[in-house]
Amino acid sequence: MTTGRSTPWVLATRNTGKLRELRALFATHGIEAIDLREAGVPEDSVAEDAVEAFETFEENALAKARYFSARLPGRIIVADDSGLAVDALGGEPGVRSKRWSGRADLHGAELDASNNALLLSRLGDSADRRARFVCAAAWSDGRQELVLRGEVHGHIVAQGRGMHGFGYDPHVFIDELGRTLAEATVAEKELVSHRGRAFVRLVEELRVRGMITA
Ligand code: IMP
Repeated sequence: MTTGRSTPWVLATRNTGKLRELRALFATHGIEAIDLREAGVPEDSVAEDAVEAFETFEENALAKARYFSARLPGRIIVADDSGLAVDALGGEPGVRSKRWSGRADLHGAELDASNNALLLSRLGDSADRRARFVCAAAWSDGRQELVLRGEVHGHIVAQGRGMHGFGYDPHVFIDELGRTLAEATVAEKELVSHRGRAFVRLVEELRVRGMITA
């Protein structure tokens, strides 16, 4: 059995937006979490991108958790794979959300802008604007592993709104929030978001199964 309080978990992402959300989330559950840089894992963006080559969020999240577990023996790894699924686009961009626009030369806010521009042009004036964010959250201690999913539903707005969040957030209006995810604070987003839901389910299930005592 693992005690979350005594052993910091390693958040297997280099995405600063995700890190901000996950740190806050784990803090509210009394679990100390460090990132890959703090854990001393040098970045290998080509190899790390290649790990998430599967067709489902769950397979990609588990692949990431296993990849970093192999590099950090004895540590607890949590990884996620997430993305946007738009109904009128047959579920695209889905597991390809991060690099959907094909701009390998861009990062951060510039990459987000190119993905959002593609989203709006592909959707055009379609009347069906329904979309959902999906997150698969994976946990591994090197011996046991678990992966669970969370979702949040909404619709795409042409005019981006809000300064918080990252990625597609300004264009995704969440019905139960009454605003876009970029208009929500980190704490508000955590309560309804795909990532918040997936990781809360994960922590609860790990406790139920007796895999952690945190
Ligand atoms: P990955 O999970 O790191 O492979 O990348 C998921 C991609 O999906 C991100 O780079 C974003 O473009 C998008 N995405 C995932 N979660 C969110 C979110 O909470 N808000 C906005 N975009 C997201």
